[in-house]
Amino acid sequence: MKQLFYAIVFLCTGLMAVWGQKKPIIVDRPISFGPERVSMTQQYMKERYLIDAPSGKISPKMVVLHWTAIPSLEASFNAFDPEHLPAYRPELGRNGLNVSAHFLVDQDGTIYRLMPEDMMARHVIGLNHLAIGIENVGGTADMPLTPLQIKANAELLKYLKKKYPEIKYLIGHHQYTELEGTELWKEIDPGYKTTKTDPGDRFVWLVKRKTRKLRWHPLPKPKQ
Ligand SMILES: [Zn+2]
Repeated sequence: MKQLFYAIVFLCTGLMAVWGQKKPIIVDRPISFGPERVSMTQQYMKERYLIDAPSGKISPKMVVLHWTAIPSLEASFNAFDPEHLPAYRPELGRNGLNVSAHFLVDQDGTIYRLMPEDMMARHVIGLNHLAIGIENVGGTADMPLTPLQIKANAELLKYLKKKYPEIKYLIGHHQYTELEGTELWKEIDPGYKTTKTDPGDRFVWLVKRKTRKLRWHPLPKPKQ
């Protein structure tokens, strides 16, 4: 009887330890990232940010949340997989590097890692040199983001903050222009902007509420 009691206590302690860690399950599903994409990444950082970064490495200080506005995991993955920017996106200009993000979260909360966390992904104008991108499948009227995605984003943020303590800021893509003129902003062309609405204030607020223990910093003010 006593042995059974100790066995139950041991089991409960073990389960609590596992729950307490809240380590998210991350599924690696790499997009194409051959030498040409690496070279385009380096070139992008050099041309747009005047940064010489060997292998396109970044030091993460911010996380930017997105939605794909594409209603399936496969189609979202297929948008980021090609190394070259598709011809239908001329607004993104001269450099042929395709857009991407470090993580893609499906509607059921499954987290996919698409590329190394410390390499630059092209997902937010002016801030790619320090920002990790999390894309969420959906965001259309027929397929809004889900509570499971909110939970997965929060768990992923806890994992990232632990791994990269220098991450201090969390924004939604729709907020990125608020950073223009601050010490974080590096884009050299003031005319290079696109209008963004993803993923909206409500989603960011819900994720922030679940991660308030991470003590996100207020955004810096533009330099005078
Ligand atoms: Zn976005």
